[in-house]
Amino acid sequence: MILFADLHIHIGRAGCGAPVKITASSDLTVDRILKECVERKGIQMAGIVDCASPPVLDDLRLLLEQGELTALPGGGLDYRGKVTLLLGAEIELPGPRGGNAHFLAFTPTFEAMEELSRFLSRAVTNISLSCQRADLETHQVHDFVINELGGIFLPAHAFTPFKSVYGSCVNRIAELGLEFSALELGLSADTYLADMLHELASVQFLSNSDAHSLPKIAREYNKLELAKPDFAHLCRSLAGDPENRILANYGLDPRLGKYHRTFCLQCEAVVEGPPPVGQCPKCGSNKVVVGVLDRITAIADEQEPVHPDRRPPYIHQVPLEFIPGVGKKTLTRLLGTFGTEMSILHEASVEDLAEVVGPKIAENIAAAREGRLAVAAGGGGRYGRVKHQER
Ligand SMILES: [Zn+2]
Ligand SMILES: [Zn+2]
Repeated sequence: MILFADLHIHIGRAGCGAPVKITASSDLTVDRILKECVERKGIQMAGIVDCASPPVLDDLRLLLEQGELTALPGGGLDYRGKVTLLLGAEIELPGPRGGNAHFLAFTPTFEAMEELSRFLSRAVTNISLSCQRADLETHQVHDFVINELGGIFLPAHAFTPFKSVYGSCVNRIAELGLEFSALELGLSADTYLADMLHELASVQFLSNSDAHSLPKIAREYNKLELAKPDFAHLCRSLAGDPENRILANYGLDPRLGKYHRTFCLQCEAVVEGPPPVGQCPKCGSNKVVVGVLDRITAIADEQEPVHPDRRPPYIHQVPLEFIPGVGKKTLTRLLGTFGTEMSILHEASVEDLAEVVGPKIAENIAAAREGRLAVAAGGGGRYGRVKHQER
């Protein structure tokens, strides 16, 4: 079966009201996320990355007892036969030479996630909160998740400044002394950029939303072909099994991401000019947030991407909220007619779109599909913008 998977979704608040990810919207609860995936997004596999938080475990336990969620034999939790919930945790770990990086861990079962929660609780300040820095070595967590729990462990948003393996820890993942089957690209990178690093040729790329609010779910996602929509078959796809595979990555044009280009903190502006830029060309300041494009260009083995044979295509998409003219009302009207954002962005014909929202917005959606929208790159925590339409 073909399914769409977004494997990086945060919880804002647990059902009891306890905050989990403080910077995330409070309507991000387990059941609201699952409903959003079914009703608006058209996502069939959802990775929730704050499941090690005990209040979230309580919510999951309740949904299991009520029969809203049921454990799948191959791992993962089924929601009404429509979505597979993958139990995940985002963990911050110290790099070998200073700097911290985020990793994603997924476990096959609820019980294994309880174990991971107990394991991490001894090494973090507050296990109830998301993305806590654990006082452990990366290999310790890696080995525990893979060997003890039968889980998945991979670098999150691997190139972003501040909290990622390449962005703030190492020039080569090999320096960690670990091998990963998969890596999350992050919003400001894509396959074309990541394949400039040789060591990633054998690594599968995932494109996930890192959603901090309901509308942002599925702004990036993966198209998978799995014999069954469960944990075990997802694992096979990451191991390079030809029967279970990642068919495509869908993600933002990386220029729209928050950290695509270097940002000067003195000028408070995104720099221009050919990458890599490590110093502001305008004021000469070194106080910059290095952009993902600049970082990858600085450490790349190649000037051009070298894709391994089995690398699936990376399809750029402009989320509807970025498209000029699409506000809340327009979006509601579009959803009313076409069902999910997936069908608006990828399936509906321009003629059908035009009947609902008029020719101008329909043309903007078409331009977004074909990569014809002009984009001003983001940086330093500010998203890129769609400028105007190129004809
Ligand atoms: Zn993170
Ligand atoms: Zn995250």
